[in-house]
Amino acid sequence: MGRVIAIDGPSGAGKSTVSKLIAERLGFEFLDTGALYRAAALHLRRKGLDENNTDDDIKRALNGISVFFKEGRVYLKENSELYPGEDVSEAIRTTEAGHYASVFSARKAVRDFLFQVQRDAAIRSDIVAEGRDMTTVVFPDAWKKFYLDASEEGRAKRRYLQLKEKGIEITMEEALRDVRERDERDSKRDIAPLKKADDAVCIDTTDLSLNEVIEKILKAIGDRR
Ligand code: C5P
Repeated sequence: MGRVIAIDGPSGAGKSTVSKLIAERLGFEFLDTGALYRAAALHLRRKGLDENNTDDDIKRALNGISVFFKEGRVYLKENSELYPGEDVSEAIRTTEAGHYASVFSARKAVRDFLFQVQRDAAIRSDIVAEGRDMTTVVFPDAWKKFYLDASEEGRAKRRYLQLKEKGIEITMEEALRDVRERDERDSKRDIAPLKKADDAVCIDTTDLSLNEVIEKILKAIGDRR
């Protein structure tokens, strides 16, 4: 197993951008686990599933597919396909994909399906893994653990700007509703809820610049390469 820097927190706390840059600075691989949940949810929606389906339905729909990263892009692939699969990196970034990622991620069938994919990412490389249960469930044995948080308004604003940048139409009210709904669902679910691990270093990013957050993390890691 490589070294794992595990980073959890609610949506819009800045985890992805920070984790990516930390990975670059330290020469680690970056594992965006939200992207895996989004891709699995996209597949389930395409198969016509929603929150009313049973765990067995979900398991069946996920059987025979793979969700994986290749050169920083996220792919969905039917295992029987000969060609390399579909690059869904853009399709998973809509608010609808985020909504269904949050809905389906509360289901055991989905979490079981993605557990090993995430663990495997650390077999051959040192990684920075970010998500909701990196520090608690997937990598409880992580080398370093962080929990990034920010005010609800601050997170909604980040979400709003990120989506706008991607050309996705959204209002501030919609962004606020999106972070509220997802965080409520993500932290109240029975399986692997979002919570701060006792041994994670907590950083409130509301009033910090990107560089300040990175500096704090690198200082806590004790490595300024
Ligand atoms: O981080 P991102 O917004 O892309 O994640 C989308 C959704 O996937 C989250 O709202 C959450 O419900 C789910 N997720 C999860 N566990 C993770 C990563 C993401 O449940 N480790």
